[in-house]
Amino acid sequence: MLTSPSDPTVFQRRESEARSYCRGFDAVFAQAAGSELIDAEGNRYIDFLAGCSSLNYGHNDPDMKTALIEHISGDGIAHGLDLHTEVKARFLSAFETHILKPRNMDHRLMFTGPTGANAVEAAIKLARKVTGRTNVISFTNGFHGVTLGALAATGNSYHRGGAGIPLSGVARMPYDGYMGSKVDTADLLEKMLSDPSSGIDAPAAIIFETVQGEGGLNAASPEWVRKVAAIAKAHGALLIIDDVQAGCGRAGSFFSFEDFGVVPDIVTMAKSISGFGLPMALMLVRPEHDKFGPAEHNGTFRGNTHAFVTARISIEKFWADETFQDQLAQKERIILSGLAAISEMVPGARLKGRGLMRGVDVGSGDLAAAICARAFDNGLIIETSGPNDEVVKILAPLTTPDTVLRKGLNILMDAVRDTTTDMKFAAE
Ligand SMILES: *Cc1c(COP(=O)(O)O)cnc(C)c1O
Repeated sequence: MLTSPSDPTVFQRRESEARSYCRGFDAVFAQAAGSELIDAEGNRYIDFLAGCSSLNYGHNDPDMKTALIEHISGDGIAHGLDLHTEVKARFLSAFETHILKPRNMDHRLMFTGPTGANAVEAAIKLARKVTGRTNVISFTNGFHGVTLGALAATGNSYHRGGAGIPLSGVARMPYDGYMGSKVDTADLLEKMLSDPSSGIDAPAAIIFETVQGEGGLNAASPEWVRKVAAIAKAHGALLIIDDVQAGCGRAGSFFSFEDFGVVPDIVTMAKSISGFGLPMALMLVRPEHDKFGPAEHNGTFRGNTHAFVTARISIEKFWADETFQDQLAQKERIILSGLAAISEMVPGARLKGRGLMRGVDVGSGDLAAAICARAFDNGLIIETSGPNDEVVKILAPLTTPDTVLRKGLNILMDAVRDTTTDMKFAAE
């Protein structure tokens, strides 16, 4: 068989300008295990990006890898449309036993096309079908994906600008904290929905993330989430929680909302749901709203069979008891103490986020980019988020050993110290 060369000049020559992460991390990666990536030259990097939280259990988890290899070498089904398969049955049973039942959730699973955006599309379409209404309420700095329906619910103007047509059917309201600590934006939402002359049509759905992953790690308070859930109910709208990024343990528990006392009508999941970084997405829906007809929200790749294999293991290995979740609390403390030290080096810095999606707002996108670039030079992959990319964001795999976590945080601290020192000299 022919082998083509791994020529690094081919990216500039032949890959579209739409490429993005690779611009900040200019290496050619070859291998990965756990919380580390290795490039073609053998350099090692600690991964605090984790595929944007698609790799919550690290790269190439040995148990998932073994199961997947066995599945493939045994001629297990690779693609099965939405046919019943053994591996799908096993995943569904694991999800029912270890996730849904212990949380008293009666939701059904609907597999969508294998992206978060497609799960959000399905959720919004379903809410419109169920309620017969079109308007959807989403929030400032929310990110829900870049296909047209999901993009309409997304705040970011750069992404919205890519649509090329007007994005309609969504009314935006201020997220928790958007107007400062003195204004309760849930009260504003209630007022707008109760006033027939507010100009906001009765909504089919209210959709939000409990921690805004791309929008700058704004974390909604439990009270705000409960209030908005009650408002949705009172106004006949479905509550959609987009847990594509904050779910699968990222916010400290399997679902980002599970300690808040709310039961969403619909939950969207993708990113880490396969456990292994494979494409997979789903929507959880309460049975009374499970109203799509057969193939009404169709898709050739609904349910990636290889992902069912690894997704089942991720549930059985990490969520069958409390052990893993308890470890998360300890890792959260380590991250928080690192971030506290960092925030002291940057005047005006603010800590952001919840659980293990944490970061620091350093006040400017330029400074945040300079810090991430310096960290990368020293072997740490870390990205920014927020309306001006001003939040340095830690999304380390949840399985990162404490020693590696500390090592990564030390690289980050050094990067902040060196970058801010350089800027001081440059200003003098
Ligand atoms: C990443 C993300 C999406 C979109 O997922 P894709 O797989 O990139 O389409 C939707 N919602 C949230 C909260 C996300 O973080």
